[in-house]
Amino acid sequence: MLKALMAAGMLAAGLAAPALADDAPGHPVKLHRYTAPLYAWNTNSYWLESADGVALIDAQLLSSDARYLAAAIKASGKPLKGVIITHGHVDHVSGLDVLRAEFGDFPIYGTEATKAAMPDIWAGAHRFFAMPNMFDEALSETMVLPDHMIRAGDRVEIAGISFEVFGGGPGEAADNIGVYAPALKAVFAGDMSYPFAHFYTGDGHPSGALAQARALRAAYDPALMVYSGHRDPAPVAQLDDQIAYLEFMIAETKAAMADPANLGDNGFLKREARRAVMAKILERYPHYDSFGFTAGEIVPGNIYGAEQEIKAATGS
Ligand SMILES: [Zn+2]
Repeated sequence: MLKALMAAGMLAAGLAAPALADDAPGHPVKLHRYTAPLYAWNTNSYWLESADGVALIDAQLLSSDARYLAAAIKASGKPLKGVIITHGHVDHVSGLDVLRAEFGDFPIYGTEATKAAMPDIWAGAHRFFAMPNMFDEALSETMVLPDHMIRAGDRVEIAGISFEVFGGGPGEAADNIGVYAPALKAVFAGDMSYPFAHFYTGDGHPSGALAQARALRAAYDPALMVYSGHRDPAPVAQLDDQIAYLEFMIAETKAAMADPANLGDNGFLKREARRAVMAKILERYPHYDSFGFTAGEIVPGNIYGAEQEIKAATGS
């Protein structure tokens, strides 16, 4: 009853009621979240349910998780009307073949750059995670690519739910986008946001990730919620911490690389110099999450990503 009164009050004030807190009858859009277990990096898929069907954002890493996700969607009794892929990393696309098998044909929205990058990412992930029992199951062998091209500034409608596409360009991945859903006043950022976690920059574009985080912070009301590819939702204002983290990581890597004594013959940081940068990051962010890996695995890879970008920029 209280919820219904609140919803009525918000409607009178011309505001959309927040769907997570509101299960009042007749509410147009409901938000659901499926989160993978820690060993599959707590990867999030979000599915939005309207009277017409379901719109899904990102498709999971493991086939088992994609099957659980499909079962949850099926339990709603609504058809899956489309999937938005925020970027081409395997933890967001590998479940697409399971979803195709479960739901048949539906449009898969993604950018040209994501589609172009996926085959290499796919091959690399299969090489890297080929060892048995990494996830207690093999990664899917069947890559499914986006078939409906979108880019920043586009408006996409799935199951009667509108999404505004933002972002684009290299950042956490070769290309990262997010979508804003006005019906929920919710920002779905994919991996352009890593609240309270070591921001992944291992693909070598930390400046792009930083620019995207700043743009996201500037574009939306600080109190709106950001639903990220990993970890729990956090307000737009929390991006301040992520921006500071990336600035610190890039600055410390640059400072270390400015001392020739720290560089190996290949022009990258020597192991001990990289570990010294890592120690500074861990000292400053001791509580940060590292997705089922150890920080000692994640952070050096991120620093190496920054080294690649700095080295390319200086032409050394
Ligand atoms: Zn991810």
